[in-house]
Formats: sequence, C-alpha cells, structure tokens
Amino acid sequence: MQYPVYLDYAATTPCDQRVAEKMMAYLTEDGDFGNAASRSHLFGWKAEEAVENARAQVADLIGADTREIVWTSGATESDNLAIKGIAFTRKDRGRHIVTSKIEHKAVLDACAWLESQGFEISYLQPTAEGLITPDSVEAALRSDTILVSLMHVNNELGTLTDIAAIGQECRKRDIALHVDAAQSAAREFVDVEQMQIDLLSLSAHKMYGPKGIGALYVRRSPEIKVAAQIHGGGHERGMRSGTLPTHQIVGLGEAAEIAKKQRKKDRIALAELNERFLQNVSKIDGVSLNGSRQQRAPGIVNLSFDAVDGESLLMALRELAISTGSACTSATVEPSYVLTAMGQPQELAQSALRFSFGRKTSCDEIDYAVEKLSETLQNIRATKAWG
Ligand SMILES: *Cc1c(COP(=O)(O)O)cnc(C)c1O
Repeated sequence: MQYPVYLDYAATTPCDQRVAEKMMAYLTEDGDFGNAASRSHLFGWKAEEAVENARAQVADLIGADTREIVWTSGATESDNLAIKGIAFTRKDRGRHIVTSKIEHKAVLDACAWLESQGFEISYLQPTAEGLITPDSVEAALRSDTILVSLMHVNNELGTLTDIAAIGQECRKRDIALHVDAAQSAAREFVDVEQMQIDLLSLSAHKMYGPKGIGALYVRRSPEIKVAAQIHGGGHERGMRSGTLPTHQIVGLGEAAEIAKKQRKKDRIALAELNERFLQNVSKIDGVSLNGSRQQRAPGIVNLSFDAVDGESLLMALRELAISTGSACTSATVEPSYVLTAMGQPQELAQSALRFSFGRKTSCDEIDYAVEKLSETLQNIRATKAWG
C-alpha cells in the first residue's frame, strides 16, 4: 500500500499508463507534433487525423456523432460554453433557466453571472436524500424556460439523477437540456440519444485522462446552437477557437475508449468496494451516510460524524488522501452548500468527509481507511469527553 492512501478519485484520477504513452507520440520532433489546422502539409494532416480519431472515440462513449463533439479545456469550460452559449442564442425566446442548488460551481457561477445579465434562474431544492426529482424539474418549467442544466452524478454525494425522465420532458417543450457528466461518463451508462440530452460536459482528468482537456457534446438534430465564448481562428466549427492540443485530445480519446471497454467491469468492482466500505463503516458509532443509499453511482461516499468537527478529523487522518464536503476559506470552514441545501444541520454538514474510490483502489485500502477512521474518531471523541 502507498501512503497516504488515495481516496479522492472524485477530485481527480491518475492518468492511465496507456493514455500517457499514447500522448507522448504527439509532442516531440520525432512525433506527430503538427498543428491540426495546418492544411498544407503532412505534419498538419497527421495531427488532424489523430484529433478526428479521438473525436470518434469520445463520441462513441456517449452514443454521439463525431460532428457533435467540441474540444474544450475541461468540464468547467464545457459548462460555461453550454450555459452562456444557450443563454445568448435563445435570449429572445426567453430568459429563464432551471438548475439546482447542488450543482458544481462551474454551473452555479455561470448561472449567477447570467443573473447579473438579466436572466432568471430557478435553483431547485434537492430532497433530504440529495436527489433532484423529475417532478421538481417539471414543476419549474415555464413558457419562457430556455435551458435545464443538471449533473448526472453529484460530485460530493455520488447520487444519481434520472436524466432520461427529465430529457423526455424537456424535448417535449423544446427546452435545451445540458448535463454535466464529468463524474459519470467513466462509470455509468451515458447515451445522449436514449436520455435525450442536448449538451453534455466531459472532463478527461475525471476518467483517467490528462488534466486541461474536456469536451462539450452539442446536438445536431434537432440542432442546438451555442454562441462561442472564446473567439479566434474559428476552430471547432466556430464554437471554440484556439489551436487544438493534439496530445491532450489523443489522451482524452484513449481514456474514453478504455472507459467504454471497462466501464461495466469497473462499476462492478467499485460497487463491491463501496459495499465493503459502507458495511464496515456502519459498525462505527455516530456515522451517517449523506445522500440516497439506493439511487447512487458507486465510488463516492459522503459521511457525517456526530460530535466531531470535519477539520480536526481531516487533520488527524493524515494517512488518507480524502476531502471535506466543505469549502475551506482562510479563517473559517464553511459547511458544504450541497449538504446545507439538503437541510443538514450546520454541525453535521461541517463534519462531512468525502471518500471516493477508483480503478486502483484495493480491499486492503478500504479496510485500512475504515480502521484509521474508527481509531481517529475514538481518539477525538475521548479527548473531547476529557477536555
Ligand atoms: C471536476 C468537475 C468539474 C470541473 O471539471 P474540470 O475539467 O476540472 O474543469 C465540473 N463538474 C463536475 C461535476 C466535476 O466533478
């Protein structure tokens, strides 16, 4: 076992060795280092071929057509391009957008900015189990709603949203549906046709690919138009300018192909680890699972602890690389906005920790984590009782 034990796969994953090796062939003088936009020589043609091959790999992962994939720098940019891009092209039709209180900051901050530009945003309330229900979405839709933006798997909780049901409702009313699938593409079944998704954000570093590259799926039929947020040479059919980073794109493509092949197997392994972790954890006093026990993707477990504050717990758990459900600012620890939105009392929301597992996580690591957690909780609680 390597220490600290890495249990923060929801924050980022290591690049798969096969992915990293593939990327190396597109950087140096002896590799295909050309600019994919160079149309006049072999260097450019080879880079373009690599980029288009990767586009097919990514499209295949989500059941899309290659012409529907736009390269971006990651899911943050994809979220921004989808949300602001739709807001701009549809603003004459309506200025109402539906999202939820438990989205990623990339979505929430893009929506907050649009509010300052005269758009109206409905932030849906999750259930106490951290779910955004299709009923609550439907109830929020209006005649001037232009976009619904929701994530598939929640990055803090691991809870799953019933995208297919929401997709059906949005399509009926000609409302664009954007889905942030950064946490789900590598482990859950995602199909833009079956789920009737119009825009979908992906990030390579959440699926064993490199950091700094992502994609936005943009539906062609019925056609969805997004206004560019980065202007320049008109790359990516005008939706996102900038010289394509061949090595990064090849890395995302390879990661997507591996994910498609392995996703079922990975999911089963993750579900076993998840179950083992939860079973063992349930033997410890004063621990509760945040988010639905049933409707979740395996691999992300968010726990709250009675009578312990999350920061002291995290400090004492140095052997584990995990994260709090809280956003730490300089002086104070803010409780997680996701847990707060679910109606968690401040103390519990402040004690939350997120454990997330991945392809390399072993049963030994799971057992070690629970043992350390149990030991540390006992120590902190004993010290507190004496003090
Ligand atoms: C990580 C993550 C993002 C941000 O992705 P980057 O590629 O790091 O910009 C957005 N949404 C979700 C759900 C994420 O987990």
